[in-house]
Amino acid sequence: MGTPTFQPVLERIAEESERIPGRGRPASYIPALAARDPRSFGMAVAELDGTVYGVGDWREPFSTQSITKVFTLALDLAREGDALWEHVGREPSGNPFNSLVQLEYEGGIPRNPFINAGALVVTDRLHTRTGDAAGELLAFLRSESGNPDLDFDPQIAASESAHGNRNAALAHFMASYGNIDNPVPALLDQYFRQCSLTASCADLALAAGFLARHGVRADGTRLLTRSQAKQVNAVMLTCGTYDAAGEFAYRVGLPGKSGVGGGIIAVVPGRCTLCVWSPGLDERGNSVAGVAALDRFTTLTGLSVF
Ligand code: GLN
Repeated sequence: MGTPTFQPVLERIAEESERIPGRGRPASYIPALAARDPRSFGMAVAELDGTVYGVGDWREPFSTQSITKVFTLALDLAREGDALWEHVGREPSGNPFNSLVQLEYEGGIPRNPFINAGALVVTDRLHTRTGDAAGELLAFLRSESGNPDLDFDPQIAASESAHGNRNAALAHFMASYGNIDNPVPALLDQYFRQCSLTASCADLALAAGFLARHGVRADGTRLLTRSQAKQVNAVMLTCGTYDAAGEFAYRVGLPGKSGVGGGIIAVVPGRCTLCVWSPGLDERGNSVAGVAALDRFTTLTGLSVF
């Protein structure tokens, strides 16, 4: 092949990551996430052909949370195309992921598909189109990762629901503008299951591969047009890490999407996909060691979109 393997660079990054002084704190809004060890660290890189390299806890399943928003976006965009953009914008919000404030000024249309309000709209639309948004997401991730054991974590889903007042408020508020199709309780049930999906760095790096292959799935069939794959990558770059997207682009220089479980996926279009996991978060909900590792990866390899 002539191209060097990613293994040595991953090992160097894992070793350096042990020396990161403050690793942040695991999300505390539900007990299952708060209990994770902030010293956990795993990272995987998947090449376009499905070859995967990994280091540390790269096969350890974790709560994917908002990383799933990328997959529901892709699945809905594949079905409805540009009509989706009449219901959700694609501008960075500059606000926290669970913010309500812009919705009233903007007539119930969320700023982008990656803040919670936008993700709720996307899941609602996917649910209308498929009758089972969470099931659709799970089937897609199982097939792209090649891991038939991927599943939701019912305990996390129940916990999300028990602490779901903010998401319920977002959904009801948007429903009052006519921007939610399904009954709010049914939508929330789908969204909380979606957030509870458990997967490893290896699973997610593989599952995101279609974004590096310009829309083509692992089996060679096409999910997104080349242009739609570019759109999803662009929205990840500008909105994927919420109110830290500018800093993430500055440091990492790749489309990326984080979740409060401590995972982050990132895409090098035409080359590879990455997933890093470490549960300690910064105040904006992004993994501290995860962002640092991706920063080192692009610095050491020179692989970035810039
Ligand atoms: N379950 C979380 C929520 O909806 C997901 C947020 C996240 O990962 N940023 O609040």
